Amino acid sequence: MIRQNVCKKGMLIVVSAPSGCGKGTLLAQVLKDDNFYCSVSATTRSPREGEKDGVNYWFISPEEFRRRIDEGDMLEYAEYCGNYYGTMRSQVYKRLNEGRDVILEIEVQGAMNIRRSCPEAVLVFLLPPSLATLRHRLEKRGTEDEETISRRVGEAAREISQAEKYDYIIVNDAIEDAVSDFLTVVRAEKLKTVNNNEKINEVLENA
Ligand code: 5GP
Repeated sequence: MIRQNVCKKGMLIVVSAPSGCGKGTLLAQVLKDDNFYCSVSATTRSPREGEKDGVNYWFISPEEFRRRIDEGDMLEYAEYCGNYYGTMRSQVYKRLNEGRDVILEIEVQGAMNIRRSCPEAVLVFLLPPSLATLRHRLEKRGTEDEETISRRVGEAAREISQAEKYDYIIVNDAIEDAVSDFLTVVRAEKLKTVNNNEKINEVLENA
């Protein structure tokens, strides 16, 4: 469980998108602002070419993953396309306490678990313009074989059918528009009354 007071410090933002939606590109732009921190997840899948341990993911064995679940280290986890993925508590708490906005780049099951454990979290779903565009982007990336791509496109359709459970939908057609939409969401969330009650009191008390 994330405690209420932890969430109040920084904002917890969940971003879900089927792979190939351009989520990595969007987050790379957003993370140029140091106040954002993207949690590095643990996974049991093998690294893709160019991926680095501790940067893209912590690549760990299924045994270690299970041990971390048993020890309560996982804030949330899910099985996706035959592999485990999970967010480590330590990655999130520390940064929220520092006042940074923490982004969790996670799939739908994990997002719904966060929704339950931290109702203040803001859930954003990134949509591709179409499934055909998504397949094309995966083929162009060239990191998966045809069978894996078909499996991921099927998984994408299943995930997109759950997008209505999120707070915001951003279509990633032109990346700069998607980045601008994301920052607008964050700004609007920060201006919500529920996040600014202290300011009202401050003004009244300094009358
Ligand atoms: P990929 O293998 O393409 O890197 O990731 C596959 C899916 O797992 C993506 O939808 C990604 O967002 C999700 N994912 C990555 N890390 C986590 C995590 O810590 N928890 C959950 N629930 N999903 C994750």
